[in-house]
Amino acid sequence: MEITGLDLKEVEALILELGEPRYRARQLLDWVYKKGTDAFGEMSNLPLSLQRSLQEQGWRVSPLAVAGAREARDGTKKYLFRLPDGFCVEAVYIPEVKRKTVCFSTQVGCAVGCVFCATGQQGFKRNLMVGEIVDQVRKIGQDRKIRISHAVAMGQGEPLANYERTLKAIRILNADYGLKMAARHLTISTSGIVPAIYRLATEELQINLALSLHATEDQLRSRLIPLNRTYPLAQVMKACRDYAAQTKRRVTLEYIMIAGVNDGEADLDRLIKLATGWLCHVNLIPYNPVPAVPYQPSPPRVRQRFLRTLEEHKVAASIRQERGGEVEAACGQLRQQLKL
Ligand code: SF4
Repeated sequence: MEITGLDLKEVEALILELGEPRYRARQLLDWVYKKGTDAFGEMSNLPLSLQRSLQEQGWRVSPLAVAGAREARDGTKKYLFRLPDGFCVEAVYIPEVKRKTVCFSTQVGCAVGCVFCATGQQGFKRNLMVGEIVDQVRKIGQDRKIRISHAVAMGQGEPLANYERTLKAIRILNADYGLKMAARHLTISTSGIVPAIYRLATEELQINLALSLHATEDQLRSRLIPLNRTYPLAQVMKACRDYAAQTKRRVTLEYIMIAGVNDGEADLDRLIKLATGWLCHVNLIPYNPVPAVPYQPSPPRVRQRFLRTLEEHKVAASIRQERGGEVEAACGQLRQQLKL
């Protein structure tokens, strides 16, 4: 039972149940999120009786232990967190001049099974609990002694397949009693669960949506992302366009560029068509090779040609900067590297 898995109302209910006044809830959360404390015993403005009751009832602040970490020369740092049941998940810290981002996981393994992804090859184990999601961001902020400004649900797992917990975690990251991160700095990345995209559009949250597009026609997309057989491209794209229209927020189309697979002229033509006439942005991502997967990244000149041509067609586009190559900062790779 983790405090980081509870929202303010739930912490207040817990505090009242323990016979303490409601305001103790905010004091407790202040220690957890502002001061970054993990031990009830250090929360000096809480009565000793409350500190003891929390411990005796089996509550703890954090469900995560750092099982390993690797830092790249550019400051990108990949963390392997051990969960209470022994499973591990990964999160990545990405420092840039204007933003400090954490890419966090939402599931142990993943059922989507994308062929280019190390996590997809491991299969699905379980959904993460709310505290296990929130605490990846909190713990990395603690370790780096820095305020994390941005967070993206783009690590292991399909966030919209763990919808309620991911959304609750996002609300805690955003809350004034939580990590106080601006909603517009929070992003959920999905492989395209259509009903969940429509549901997300109705949430009262100004968060960003990113779609793992990666292919512009159904045959290839179904091969790369098997979920496409359930929710084909036309349905996914309509859901994204509807999301942008309803929320007035720009949707990012993530496009991992794989040499000889999705980087031809016909792919580019279709990409332009898919991205024209609505509020979206194409993010071209150099493929980060995964052991035992036969794909290679498209050459830089091909990426540049995609970018130039998209821009010539008035499609907002960018190439994602390669970060943390030395720590293999892509899905599911640290575990293999550290053999944990
Ligand atoms: S890329 Fe994302 S959705 Fe696809 S298998 Fe990997 S973790 Fe799952």
